[in-house]
Amino acid sequence: MRRTLSVLKIFIFIVLALSLVFLYLQGRVAVVQEEHYLLGTYFRIKAQSRSHDQAQRAVHEALAEAKRLSEEFSRIGAGSLGALNRYGASESVRLSDDVFTVLEAAERYRELSGGAFDHTIGKIVDLWGFTQDWDRAGVGRIPSADELQPLVEEPRQISLDTTAKTARLSSPNIEVDLGGIAKGYIVDRVVEILKKHELDSALVDAGGNIRVFNDRPRKVLWFEDRRPFRIGVQHPRDESKILGVLEIWGDHALATSGDYQRCFFADALKNIFPCRYADEPDKIRYHHIIDPKTGQPARGLISTTILAPTAMEADALSTAVFVLGEQKGLALIESLPNVEGILVTDNGRIVVSSGLKDINFPTELP
Ligand code: ADP
Ligand code: MG
Repeated sequence: MRRTLSVLKIFIFIVLALSLVFLYLQGRVAVVQEEHYLLGTYFRIKAQSRSHDQAQRAVHEALAEAKRLSEEFSRIGAGSLGALNRYGASESVRLSDDVFTVLEAAERYRELSGGAFDHTIGKIVDLWGFTQDWDRAGVGRIPSADELQPLVEEPRQISLDTTAKTARLSSPNIEVDLGGIAKGYIVDRVVEILKKHELDSALVDAGGNIRVFNDRPRKVLWFEDRRPFRIGVQHPRDESKILGVLEIWGDHALATSGDYQRCFFADALKNIFPCRYADEPDKIRYHHIIDPKTGQPARGLISTTILAPTAMEADALSTAVFVLGEQKGLALIESLPNVEGILVTDNGRIVVSSGLKDINFPTELP
């Protein structure tokens, strides 16, 4: 009798131990991370899954799509956007579904922002030297008023035919530049692919255009304690610092536009100096987010971070709000459902929208 009892105890112990090992293995996740340089920025995907192979396949497929789309959205390349920029002033150009979708969205954001977001200003952006291969060239220039004025004053219209999926430009002075919205769109497409592979969670980051999803609940098994994604918001004047950390569960996107990554400085004699985070005494900073009304780099804000349901919305709005400035920018954010923002002004104040009052960010640049 005694002997049977102890055998039973050992048996129960072994079953319990095996179940624990099983549960542990079930709860373990593989992490696959890859990075590629696309559209002038680092495109990073981090995927977590119970199966390493599954995560690897998902990341592989997602990166191939990101690469394909980045060629589509090159404004000088062989894709349909390049064709629109070369021939669109003299004929209607058939666009790919992706380019058409984003162009339509860009038109909506242009309208919604009262023209602060404007994808028709590629030629103005070029005049400042912020061309698509900025990273290789890396030096800007200050255009003269004579060069800028005609481009700024030109009415720039795009007619879209939604049935034929074609577009036509109202003037040869238009170059369509989807640089303020396309990376967000690509991030969303990549997330769509990753979701098909039923991952536990993933993070996609295209140069500060980020979307995460974290679909499984925090606790499924008693010993699990899954963590939210923790995303630091860059300090716009000190590369080594962040303003604070956002903790994100579920499916969300955020994007930051700033004046510190594509920029240059000029002194009183218009000598040009390279871009950096910190301000330079006695020099003026010129950067790549242009106010379409003046043709000059937008002034007033130095960084805008937007949280939104999709990366495309966050991307377009971060650029729009940057140009609109503190008051109009905040008003736009507050008018949109599920959109929040963190703005940094040129005098160092950090302003947050009403839905973010509880986050633990300083109110001034540290
Ligand atoms: P990043 O490309 O650094 O993520 P943004 O999303 O703010 O930054 O986009 C800036 C890019 O968008 C510029 O490099 C330019 O190609 C384009 N752009 C500049 N000014 C505007 C504007 N007012 N509206 C729309 N796009 C713009
Ligand atoms: Mg943007």
